[in-house]
Amino acid sequence: MERNDNFTNTLQQKDRANVWHHISMYNEKAPPMIVEHGEGAWITDSVGNRFLDGMSGLWAVNVGYGRERLAQVAYEQMKKLCYAPMTQSHQPAIQLAEKVNSLLEDDYMIFYSNSGSDANEVAFKMARQYHDQNGEGARYKIISRYRAYHGSSLGALAATGQALRKYKYEPLAPGFLHVAPPDNYRRPKGQSIELYNLERAREIEEKIIWEQKETIAAVIMEPIITGGGVLIPHPSYVKEVERICQKYGVLLIIDEVICGFGRTGQLFGHQHFAIKPDIITMAKGLTSAYLPLSITAVRKDIYEKFKDTDGYSHFRHVNTFGGNPAACAVALENIKILEEEKLVQRSKDLGEQLLHDLQDLLELPFVGDVRGLGFLVGIELVEDKLTLEPAKPERLAKIIADCKANGLVIGKNGDTVEGYNNILTLSPPLCCTDEDLEFISAVLKKVFAANA
Ligand code: PMP
Repeated sequence: MERNDNFTNTLQQKDRANVWHHISMYNEKAPPMIVEHGEGAWITDSVGNRFLDGMSGLWAVNVGYGRERLAQVAYEQMKKLCYAPMTQSHQPAIQLAEKVNSLLEDDYMIFYSNSGSDANEVAFKMARQYHDQNGEGARYKIISRYRAYHGSSLGALAATGQALRKYKYEPLAPGFLHVAPPDNYRRPKGQSIELYNLERAREIEEKIIWEQKETIAAVIMEPIITGGGVLIPHPSYVKEVERICQKYGVLLIIDEVICGFGRTGQLFGHQHFAIKPDIITMAKGLTSAYLPLSITAVRKDIYEKFKDTDGYSHFRHVNTFGGNPAACAVALENIKILEEEKLVQRSKDLGEQLLHDLQDLLELPFVGDVRGLGFLVGIELVEDKLTLEPAKPERLAKIIADCKANGLVIGKNGDTVEGYNNILTLSPPLCCTDEDLEFISAVLKKVFAANA
């Protein structure tokens, strides 16, 4: 332990001196954990402390840590062919595209990039060019929802509906509009969930009409808002959004960056709602974060509009690393693991159990709502159950720290607006054992009770 402590101190000093961390600045009192090792749902830090990673990193390590098979295919592929740009092609890219297409209800073309943000940027550019080549060049506006996160680059951040993340970087890419998402917990008292959801969907229709329908290119949404606070719509909402998009010739882009690959108990989140998206974006669980890779899947009839008969119609977009051969090989093997171990079914069944078990937390005065689908849970904390006043950030910070002290990493919703970061989140690896889930539940109950 002595050696480990010195070892960790040295690393921490070098970390503080050289690494600019994401989102939070270096905190002397609570320096970032230096993660050394991962196995299944568990990670170990440089001091040897073990934690159940209840957030799968950043909602990403769906098949869990330490999969030798994934390391092996990456190794074999790198030896054979480390790289080919996607202006050319290679076997893993072809096989993965065929596989992903076979998992979707319709017929799609697969465009590779590196991250969720990239995949969404590609979707926006495709939507605009598609309309242009369809003789509707005035369609450039993209509608998304407040509270949803769609990425960090200037277009994807513009689509994001979380003001705190955005305002210091504005102006972002122009042409992005927002509407409120359904938040069933905070719907008007006495209103049925179905009616409330239909009204929220109609806000999209109103936005389209008031903005001049010929100017709207696309709607982008996650099937379930994840990082924005685990907001699960009633099916009527999603079907209605699809109907509205079809009525006005607006493309429906579904962001499956978190919801995809089993997170919500279906292979893709949109499959809960029986819709057929025009464009689907994927990242994170595609490779379980073993290597960076993302996909923009585009329905074939949209792709047809990019056939280059005049030398100007092709999609003028390239990125160096997208479709990296090892990343594609890892994604294929990752999907094999999901299938062989029936992890999507596991997410559905055990997710239901976990959610059921966590309903006990509602007995506490500061727990307003416990909601989820599959291995995705949101726990909304309030100051007052009648007014629904959001809990103060200090309460969330304390619970997160106490969970960590008890060996459980949990998360919270993103930087929406001041005062509304009051939702704790769970998104554990889909390979969690029964004991792992019991552990999550036991730690949460213990910590919540101690914070009452
Ligand atoms: N879409 C959603 C729904 C996300 O949660 C994220 C990342 N958290 C992104 C897009 C952006 O992905 P990346 O961080 O890989 O750019």
